Amino acid sequence: MEGTNTVTENVDPAEMAKFNGLAARWWDAEGDFRPLHQINPLRLDWIRERAELNGKAVVDVGCGGGILTEAMAQAGATVTGIDMADAPLAVARLHQAESGAEVEYLRTRAEDLADERPGQFDVVTCLEMLEHVPDPAAVIAACRTLVKPGGSVFFSTINRNPKSFLFAIVGAEYVLRLLPRGTHEYQKFIRPSELEGWARNAGLRISDSIGLHYNPLTRVYSLGANVDVNYIQHYVRPAANQGV
Ligand code: SAH
Repeated sequence: MEGTNTVTENVDPAEMAKFNGLAARWWDAEGDFRPLHQINPLRLDWIRERAELNGKAVVDVGCGGGILTEAMAQAGATVTGIDMADAPLAVARLHQAESGAEVEYLRTRAEDLADERPGQFDVVTCLEMLEHVPDPAAVIAACRTLVKPGGSVFFSTINRNPKSFLFAIVGAEYVLRLLPRGTHEYQKFIRPSELEGWARNAGLRISDSIGLHYNPLTRVYSLGANVDVNYIQHYVRPAANQGV
């Protein structure tokens, strides 16, 4: 597949326009990105329980305005945040100047950083990003190249089934207005089995997964076994002498 247009580009201009348009409100904890602010402590804890961050080299792929990126830096990691949308990156750099978090922000694709810095990261995070990319399998393969043997890769995205359509699009964008309309497209949602297949083909071994739930009555997010809608997966790149 390498060398085709899809793989060399693999950035959707409509998605870039969408995130550039929303960027100014990225750090408004009650605004368009409220869900990301709300889930951040939950996902950070889940990651930290599975991979040491303190003193480790981490790359956050599709970092946006840097909500998770900064939190991982504050947890002691040396973090590189990459994204292809200019406005979220500008917001991330401004916020970092205010908060004092130390993050290296780069405008690059996972595929290109994988060429430049293969095997240089202890941990790779790629959260809420794969459902915005034309060829998620290529990003997953790049994440596998970026991580050191024995290191961890975390993906999160949205499952694809009637319930996720109801909850993640109708509920979140139209009824509860948790997210701006048009944030997500149903066809781009990814089943856990699809993600697992791409990751396995890339040479990653699944280690754990968990669902992320929202209770509209209490407005509280929580982690739980059900992966019907939002979910996170933890993968390990086997050490050189181990199979997948
Ligand atoms: N990972 C962050 C932000 C999620 S929003 C978090 O969970 O807090 C999705 C982000 O993915 C946006 O910032 C968007 O610009 C970025 N993105 C979409 N396609 C991309 C691509 N092909 N390469 C890099 N970043 C991309």
